[in-house]
Amino acid sequence: MARIPEEEIDRLKREVSVERLAEAHGVRLKRHGADLIGLCPFHEDHSPSLVISPQKNLWNCLGACGKGGSVIDWVMCAEGVSFRHAVELLRREHFPLAARPGAKPPQRSSTPKLPAPVSQDGDDRALLLQVTHYYHATLKNSPDALKYLQGRGLTSTEMVEQFELGFADRTLGYGLPEKNRVAGAELRGRLQRLGILRETGHEHFNGSVVIPVFNLEGEVVEMYGRKITPGLRPGTPLHLYLPGARRGVWNEQALIASKEIILCEALIDALTFWCAGYRHVTASYGVNGFTDDHRAAFQKHGTKRISIAYDRDDAGEQAAEKLAEELMAMGVECFRVQFPKGMDANEYALKVGPAPKSLGVAIRSAQWMGKGKPKPLITTSVTAVTLHSVHEVNDAAPPLAAVEAAKDETPAPIAEPLPAQAMPDPPTPPPAPTISKNRPSPPRPTPKRSNNISHAVMEVSGSAAAAAKARVAGFRPTILSSTRWSSALVPCRRIDPA
Ligand code: ZN
Repeated sequence: MARIPEEEIDRLKREVSVERLAEAHGVRLKRHGADLIGLCPFHEDHSPSLVISPQKNLWNCLGACGKGGSVIDWVMCAEGVSFRHAVELLRREHFPLAARPGAKPPQRSSTPKLPAPVSQDGDDRALLLQVTHYYHATLKNSPDALKYLQGRGLTSTEMVEQFELGFADRTLGYGLPEKNRVAGAELRGRLQRLGILRETGHEHFNGSVVIPVFNLEGEVVEMYGRKITPGLRPGTPLHLYLPGARRGVWNEQALIASKEIILCEALIDALTFWCAGYRHVTASYGVNGFTDDHRAAFQKHGTKRISIAYDRDDAGEQAAEKLAEELMAMGVECFRVQFPKGMDANEYALKVGPAPKSLGVAIRSAQWMGKGKPKPLITTSVTAVTLHSVHEVNDAAPPLAAVEAAKDETPAPIAEPLPAQAMPDPPTPPPAPTISKNRPSPPRPTPKRSNNISHAVMEVSGSAAAAAKARVAGFRPTILSSTRWSSALVPCRRIDPA
């Protein structure tokens, strides 16, 4: 369970006025010295027994119920909810503060006071997407989760938006109709089938940063969760996935965009490369997590070269060897990225900074795993393009010119980073997450060109606009087939002006 930060609890106790809560509950308060007194709403009170100290922002019943405490205790009594739920309600300020004179204190509230994070209508795909949006909104308001990402060197806002990173903090259930209601039981049953809730009703990814895996249609096909809570019981799994076989290929757009791919052992490693500007990257699901979906995607998109960036430990070495053998039999050239012994990509990038430079060195010095000499790769020119609702595939784009390749007989793997945007400091007051199908466009990196590698960054909407803009910029674009907007490395050929 993700811990609610002490500071957050202190903040609520400090900032939310118990006087205001009492008044909103219909209690008429009278001044009595430094205190305020009124009829206690939590028992049958005839003489004012409720005492509120505005200075200390505390309350106390001197009558039959004897209750008292902070604003959190107030909400627990008034709404009939748990401590944690009360904190959530206060954090989001979404529970009714309207006066309810004469209202009887509820025994146990059975209706959610939070806005529903997911809706009943829509199929399972829509439901999974809504959960993803909810986790995403939660992450952006979770100082702990953002701090975790920063600690892993993943400080790009663009990354958080692009891959819709999320955080599961157990609050999803608070927003669902209770399980004793028909709607609640139905919705919870569906979330259990999808693997979001466990049979116990608890959230599967509770306390984890969640990385969804989208297919090219923009559907969530897999989720990876990385536990971030310190001091977990020994043996608690740190890496979680949805139940069943692993599905999908993370950042599949990159496979369309580039014939050359960096393959990491884990998604955090892949994000490390991505943040450092190496966007032609994807990941297996763990050291033995190269799946049929990966295999199929590499074949479908015609991947020519893979730099295997698995961990430099025994398990990683063995898996890389085995994988290279298989991939080379498929006609894919394989290189082994040589991190220092024992290190993974993330650790290496953190220890040997700056990451764009150190990862570039690692990629350039990757060792050819086959026999003889590697064939020169045709892809030498790549462009980062952000596409928006592009529907067509333009196969007519000519194969990438070997002009530049000819200059270098054994070209190094793509090792040219793109600029990334820094993440702002974790926010403090969390607004309620909104569920929207229209995702906001993240900030774009500024265009960059260097040497012979042509970089351009453009936002385009629809294939016509894409083509037009790309041509204006002097590029011949390849258009991705995707309804989900995507940022990827798209091979382009510079159109020579003369
Ligand atoms: Zn009382």
